[in-house]
Amino acid sequence: MEKIVSLCKRRGFIFQSSEIYGGLSNTWDYGPHGVELKNNLKRAWWKACVYERNDIFGMDAAILMHPKVWESSGHVENFFDLKSDCKGCKKRFKTEDLKNKTKCPECSGDLTESRPFNLMYKTHQGPVEDASNIIYLRPETAQGMFVNFQNILDSKHPKLPFGLAQIGKSFRNEITPGNFTFRTREFEQMEIEYFCRPLDAEKFYETWVTDRFNWYLNLGIKKENLRLRVHAKDELAHYALACTDIEYNFPFGWSELEGIANRADFDLRQHSKISGKELIYFDDQKKEKFYPFVIEPSGGVDRAVLAVLIDAYHEEKVKEDTRIVLKLNKELAPTKVAVFPLLRNRAEIVELAKKIAQDLKKSITTAYDDTGAIGKLYRRQDEVGTLYCVTIDVQTLEDKQVTVRDRDTMLQERIGIDKLKEYFLNKLNIQ
Ligand code: ATP
Repeated sequence: MEKIVSLCKRRGFIFQSSEIYGGLSNTWDYGPHGVELKNNLKRAWWKACVYERNDIFGMDAAILMHPKVWESSGHVENFFDLKSDCKGCKKRFKTEDLKNKTKCPECSGDLTESRPFNLMYKTHQGPVEDASNIIYLRPETAQGMFVNFQNILDSKHPKLPFGLAQIGKSFRNEITPGNFTFRTREFEQMEIEYFCRPLDAEKFYETWVTDRFNWYLNLGIKKENLRLRVHAKDELAHYALACTDIEYNFPFGWSELEGIANRADFDLRQHSKISGKELIYFDDQKKEKFYPFVIEPSGGVDRAVLAVLIDAYHEEKVKEDTRIVLKLNKELAPTKVAVFPLLRNRAEIVELAKKIAQDLKKSITTAYDDTGAIGKLYRRQDEVGTLYCVTIDVQTLEDKQVTVRDRDTMLQERIGIDKLKEYFLNKLNIQ
């Protein structure tokens, strides 16, 4: 884990937030490569879950919602963890992590009684701070989709089964954040609410578990590092009939990447009851009205990014050296191609290299770098997972060919400049 955290900082994937002020603990900023990786991962999710299907619509609901939403969903009443504080060192613990210990695990001081602690961030809307204008930062994106159920029926007229998909920030005032970006207080979720007939819910629940597991495999994560964990009845959330987690074998142990839950008709029923607006489906063939059941695959963007970084990290012996390489798949790699001049002091070579990079940039994510010797430039690109490196040398000026090096095999081949773009588009499977 230390190696990943250090690579992320060294190469511009992830930085400690507000570092110059000593850092805000457990809060992270994505740097130039991190934001590309994260965007590529979200795009892969959107492609698989929205574009490649006929039955799912995208959404982007606001983070701030009417406070009644969180009363109806049960978050005001039920979304809490039990915590105890140490009277000596003042450290705060989740009661479940204490495993019946009666003294502080850090300093053996006395612990306060275990008390509920609501995980929602609370603030006030507008200039006056009183109880009438309390507002919450959403702790999940899901509710933005439930409360728009009728708008979707009225605007898209979908037939069951159909789903809504959303990617966005969520906030939870976690008692014990940690393990780098694994558990933070501000994070991004990718969630689907898939509405179906109650009788079909079990079938779609099973299908979604398989589909979502395969999505992580398609990202290139090794099968032996992924597993499913079915929740026991006594650990199910108050709304869920069933839940399965997809877990990754992180350096700190098997932990959740995504949960797939059968939420039954809990949310639509609750919002209908409290808002007085019936969020109900009308089957015009059978002439019957009912609340659809919903299957919810709910994953974390930051956790998925962390898992692909860990899974892609390789150290390889090359002659006397160790090469660090991120073997990210071609969809996820932040930069696909990097172009270098072999000689930095030959103006014609530098100019040609810049021109080749500029031409490629129009269709492929390409970097240009002339700030080091070739060995150093290769090492830099390997560490950020760049798929191909192109070098322009003296020979290029004569035969109009460049050297293309493959990240994984390190094999090199000469390709004509006029064929270069087509070569990469084919390799990357871009039309
Ligand atoms: P955990 O038990 O790990 O706290 P959870 O079961 O409470 O997670 P859900 O409410 O099911 O999580 O949220 C769906 C997904 O959102 C999780 O699978 C995870 O990927 C992501 N997620 C939830 N809480 C956090 C967090 N504090 N930091 C980063 N990602 C999170």
